[in-house]
Amino acid sequence: MLGLMQQRPLLISTLVDYAAQWHGEREIVSRDPEGAIHRTNYAEVAARAKRLANALDALGIAQGDRVATLAWNGFRHLELYYGVTSSGRVLHTVNPRLFPDQLAYIMHHAEDGYVFFDPVFAPLVEALAPRLPQVRGWVSLSDRAGLPDVKVDNLLVYEELLAAASADYSWPPLDENAASTLCYTSGTTGNPKGVLYSHRSTVLHAFAACAVDGLGLSGRDSFLVVVPLFHANAWSVPFSGAMCGMKLVLPGPRLDPESLFALLVDEGCTKSGGVPTVWLNFLTWIEANRASLDLGRLRLKTVLCGGSAPPRAIIEKFHELLGVFLLHAWGMTETSPIVTVGAPLAKHDGMSGAALVDVQAKQGRQVCGVELKLARPDGGEAPHDGVSVGELKVRGNWIVSGYFKGEGGQVLDEDGWFSTGDVATIDPDGYVQLTDRLKDVIKSGGEWISSIEIENLAMSHPEVFEAAVVAVAHPVWQERPLLIVQPRVGFAPTRESILAFLTERLPKWQVPEDVAFVDSLPHTATGKLLKTELRQRFHGHLAVAG
Ligand code: ADP
Repeated sequence: MLGLMQQRPLLISTLVDYAAQWHGEREIVSRDPEGAIHRTNYAEVAARAKRLANALDALGIAQGDRVATLAWNGFRHLELYYGVTSSGRVLHTVNPRLFPDQLAYIMHHAEDGYVFFDPVFAPLVEALAPRLPQVRGWVSLSDRAGLPDVKVDNLLVYEELLAAASADYSWPPLDENAASTLCYTSGTTGNPKGVLYSHRSTVLHAFAACAVDGLGLSGRDSFLVVVPLFHANAWSVPFSGAMCGMKLVLPGPRLDPESLFALLVDEGCTKSGGVPTVWLNFLTWIEANRASLDLGRLRLKTVLCGGSAPPRAIIEKFHELLGVFLLHAWGMTETSPIVTVGAPLAKHDGMSGAALVDVQAKQGRQVCGVELKLARPDGGEAPHDGVSVGELKVRGNWIVSGYFKGEGGQVLDEDGWFSTGDVATIDPDGYVQLTDRLKDVIKSGGEWISSIEIENLAMSHPEVFEAAVVAVAHPVWQERPLLIVQPRVGFAPTRESILAFLTERLPKWQVPEDVAFVDSLPHTATGKLLKTELRQRFHGHLAVAG
């Protein structure tokens, strides 16, 4: 017997309309590259998203066509998030930090017909244009006065497009399975692959994000969106923010600690979210300047962190310096991205100090709406004992079913599980702990050594700023871990002091074979350690070191 309840399509337009009607005055604050603050609200952003939809009609952009952005976090980018998707086009958020070759590949593969860009990306646009003949128009996200000097065909001005368009528009009744946004994985191996989200997957994912033990977002929160809008749907914040009417603070390109601190204070931010490298710099700056900062004005309570593993030092410093709880989450572009979140359980009430940091350092527990399992190579499942390792596999309504245009072929197994390539343990409480990427695991004499665990430990050494561990070839043990350290400014730790520090804390066979020092560690366009480069650079290190 079927139930007798209504079935309405799950569409992004319903979130936009909801925010406009019921949280219309809730602010959207943006800072432009020059530092000027712009204030708008959900009602205005939604109204302008409708003008944008009319403008897209006038340009002849059909439903399903890809509209690309090369833009930082700002209100116009948010309008594109809402207007492009709700009117039935697909928003392709391109990561401008990628190399030009990767950008040309991605934008060609996506068949982007129009590109909306921040004026600061004019040189990039000029370099890309000759390689992208399918692009019919380039739209500067500015008014005429802010139009950069850029030599491309069919250059348009965003504010002029909107001014010429009618404000009168009704969102079309789309199929909830229609595509809404497109993000490419950064493709550290092979070509980047496109993940094509749907309205349905986006709305369901936003419900999970809002939930109290999800990201716990609320209309009373003010959220500094440090995670870029071009990184995995900005962890759903544009959508879940609209769903609950949360104030959004969009920092533009300036992610330096001083600028972030000013926004956090001035805009009364209660929450924020970003990758560990941003917070590492932020906390170092806070520590150095605490005497002159009025920390009492900060209302920040929770910082969402993921994308790579936040070292314990970040978790501890957030707590000690600012009284902020680091909420650790794990996911990937292919998973929309939220799969696990480290919200504490009732049994953790009253817990503090190192014991709580132990919980927070794990990647969190699976949210409702997706399924997770720990697969052993033989196809069986590893037990949730916090020790047995396996590859994380995931399935659910906001998990990829295949890449755009069939790249990579069949990506699900016969039971619908997607292999994440992440190796982890799951403890009896359900907390996932990532030990490695499958490709980064160090295979030493038949045992697996976790690079993440050693990196975390090394970063708790007071003189270490950041650390990476890669496998290097070894004549006896096949592979051994090499620790690569970027010292804190003003410190010169020795190999011996770091190895002694690790020897006290690790089983002997896991202690790195050697320590190399670098001025700065390389990162990918999404803020992860660029281990491919480190592996190439240090491959023969042990042979050289003798
Ligand atoms: P990319 O485009 O670089 O692949 P993703 O955000 O999709 O960017 O990367 C997903 C991967 O990032 C995950 O598979 C995992 O290896 C890593 N990752 C994400 N969150 C965490 C976390 N909290 N701790 C450790 N690694 C993480």
